[in-house]
Amino acid sequence: MADKNTTMFGQDKNPSNIIPTKYTLDSKIKFRCHPGVSCFTACCGNIDIVLTPFDILRLRKLLNLSSDEFLLRYTTPIFVEKTDMPGVKIHLDQEGRCPFVTEAGCTIYEDRPSACRYYPIGMANFHQAGDEGADAEKFFFVVKEPHCKGHEEDKEWTIREWRADQGVDICDDMNNEWMQLVMRRKSYGFQASLSEQGQKMFFMVSTNLEKFKSFVFESSFLDTYDIDAETLEKIKNDDIELMFFGLKYLAGSLFGAKTLKIKDEKIKAKVAKMKNSQGDREKEAEKVYNELLADRDALMKQMNEKK
Ligand code: SF4
Ligand code: SF4
Repeated sequence: MADKNTTMFGQDKNPSNIIPTKYTLDSKIKFRCHPGVSCFTACCGNIDIVLTPFDILRLRKLLNLSSDEFLLRYTTPIFVEKTDMPGVKIHLDQEGRCPFVTEAGCTIYEDRPSACRYYPIGMANFHQAGDEGADAEKFFFVVKEPHCKGHEEDKEWTIREWRADQGVDICDDMNNEWMQLVMRRKSYGFQASLSEQGQKMFFMVSTNLEKFKSFVFESSFLDTYDIDAETLEKIKNDDIELMFFGLKYLAGSLFGAKTLKIKDEKIKAKVAKMKNSQGDREKEAEKVYNELLADRDALMKQMNEKK
């Protein structure tokens, strides 16, 4: 479950609620959330639950909805992690409560979003700027908010055990590449903004894999990219494969990573077009130059005639 100041990875933005200790996977914590706690479901309101592509995929399958229907009924648009990358969060009801909460608890518990699973353990993952390939410093931290009585329970376990119990490891595997894109964008700051087209692509892959599938198979996408038959078969039949393929495509189209191969003939056509446009620009410059010369000659002629 998550709280008001919580980001998508269960990270409380109020530093006073973060215990100032670095935890490892083997560190022990005391925490348990269950229907018997006096605060049960108190944290399922006034929250921002940002949905990852994997969360959306899992939820719309559980609810048997198309991406469009799911987005319309259950989400609100946002910019992810204070970037210019558009995404969605769960749309709360008029009382500010999550639409999936009842007195008995979470009605989608088995498929609850990543943010709800992470709380109250956050993970920090630091890279040196521009050094994404290097080993990151990774540690965990615990968020302890006054209203959350789970910390008063006797259950003791390691962070590793707790994460396995919450299904967080699987979420990490599924969310990692998407988060890397967001973090990379965030590290660039606002000096360079994403193009409108880039934003649309990011939103489509992040929230609507059905649309992305149509884009791949029904546009000129396959005329441009060289995709082998095995990959095509996989992404046609498996939404998780499609999601990872979409994230690779975004890494290439937004950040220039060489993740997908562009067809040779497309590259040749592009080079020819650039050469032609270079030739056109030279012709244009020559024309302007000749016009300037003609203007100058006309002016000189007028001045000579006045003498
Ligand atoms: S999805 Fe479930 S756990 Fe998460 S806020 Fe809603 S009701 Fe609570
Ligand atoms: S124990 Fe904490 S996480 Fe569980 S319901 Fe209470 S406030 Fe939410």
